[in-house]
Amino acid sequence: MSEKLLLETLDNFASRNIVADFWLRDDDATAPRPALDRLLDLSEQFAIPMTLAVIPEPTGEALAKRLAQTTAIDVAVHGWAHQNHAGPYEKKRELALHRPLETVLGELQQGLTKLQSLYGSCFVPMLVPPWNRIDQAVIEHLPQLGYKALSVYGPEAANSLPLLNTHVDVIDWRGTRGGKDHDLLFAETAERMRQAHETGGMTGILTHHLDHDESVWAFLRSLFTLTASHPGCRWRSSRQWLSP
Ligand SMILES: [Zn+2]
Repeated sequence: MSEKLLLETLDNFASRNIVADFWLRDDDATAPRPALDRLLDLSEQFAIPMTLAVIPEPTGEALAKRLAQTTAIDVAVHGWAHQNHAGPYEKKRELALHRPLETVLGELQQGLTKLQSLYGSCFVPMLVPPWNRIDQAVIEHLPQLGYKALSVYGPEAANSLPLLNTHVDVIDWRGTRGGKDHDLLFAETAERMRQAHETGGMTGILTHHLDHDESVWAFLRSLFTLTASHPGCRWRSSRQWLSP
């Protein structure tokens, strides 16, 4: 019963009239794929809103057409081309100062404009930096490009832009590159719920549909089964969060 810890936390919250806010960010979409259909089906089946971080440069009409058939999907900007410009011994980064600041900002402006015109009212002016890394100098200029929020990984630290972060990554990138152990994921989720209750903020689940193994799909199904209609939590869309 690996979900027991999460269920206990949800029941405890409900008994104290606390409602934990959950949100889900899925990264790297560019085109319709069977794995994306599988994610969208889960969203629909459990009525879970999701935010897709779409890579602007390679995406186009095909994905927009597919997402037009959905009702609970928001689209945010995932960098520009998801290209690494850091050196071979550095951590991968697209949005740092390996290139002139103007070049980086120009791409981010183009990305926002492109996705806004493809997605209209489903578009959220939130930047999701590839590899969750961005230089502070780039962040300072985001408001003037039209960005209203930033989403990375880990606890929210004070910043010049509102942050809507993710906190539970379903994939073990440094180890097996497969789904993390379910016990661990449920424990991490419960821990973040308690932390968010004390400090404010949501509990953000991070997924990458193209990289899911069966273990990840099974975890998401269990998580949604537990949380979809539990009074101790609610799922929110990033759009809702940004304009309450
Ligand atoms: Zn990515």
